[in-house]
Amino acid sequence: MKTPRLNDVVRAAHELWPVSLAEGWDASGLVSGRGDQLVRRIMFAVDAVQATAREAVGAECQLLLTHHPLLLRGAQFLPASSDKGAVLHTLIEGGCGLLASHTNADSMAGGVSDALMTACGIETSVPLCDPDSETGIGRVGDLPEEITLERLGQRLSSTLLPTAGGLRIAGPRDGVVRRVAVCGGAGDSLFAEVRSAEADVYVTADLRHHPASEARERALLAGGKPYLIDCSHFASEELWLAHGARMLRSRLAAQGYEVETLLSSLNTDPWDFTIHPDSAPSSASTEPDAIGYARERRTAGQ
Ligand SMILES: [Zn+2]
Repeated sequence: MKTPRLNDVVRAAHELWPVSLAEGWDASGLVSGRGDQLVRRIMFAVDAVQATAREAVGAECQLLLTHHPLLLRGAQFLPASSDKGAVLHTLIEGGCGLLASHTNADSMAGGVSDALMTACGIETSVPLCDPDSETGIGRVGDLPEEITLERLGQRLSSTLLPTAGGLRIAGPRDGVVRRVAVCGGAGDSLFAEVRSAEADVYVTADLRHHPASEARERALLAGGKPYLIDCSHFASEELWLAHGARMLRSRLAAQGYEVETLLSSLNTDPWDFTIHPDSAPSSASTEPDAIGYARERRTAGQ
């Protein structure tokens, strides 16, 4: 088995997740790196932030593959003293390229929403946006049996990485659900598709007040469904990293290349804690740790 060069890895990634499937506003693709650089080790992470860049370089990776593009809205200045410039300088100085696989990875089978479907307990699904196609944003499918909304929430809570915000759920705890629509990441533009799919519940992230409130008002006129489960954006997409790493490793192996893949050990959900009316004040230190908000997301040995 040979060691691939960066160009070989990017080509394999784009065979798996064609950039032509990315949304028009997206910026998926190779952000930085030399095509002829040998790539022995790749780190997968949701976010290209200072902590994951340092982690990738520290782990002697030659490529950081992230779900979110670093420069989605473009950039004119990238000095090392700026937030995004610091990420790029760390990576370039550490000999580590940066590749984003975003909405192109969402669309393909085995993408972010498929991973979220598996977390719900559903193995067979179709795209939410284009149910007659094999590719498209979001997924919809049926649970093997009816369960309560609360049970589905508990199942997700036990599978998703723990984050400060946990899950927010709209609907009765004992509401019965079977057909589930999901969209990993921010999915509040897909309510029309969720209704036409006749989903009992919609699992997504980043639901804002007005889209969520209006969706519930419409649902209440139609018997109460779809219910809503709002997850951490990070946690809903982190599920994909292991799938993505496995897919890329085996695609490269089929082409005679060997790479090692690592998953970032950091939780890059930006929220640190929540306060509820019944929360007792904590006496623990509130000093941020040395790497900002990014914390160890897995305990040792897991
Ligand atoms: Zn996202």
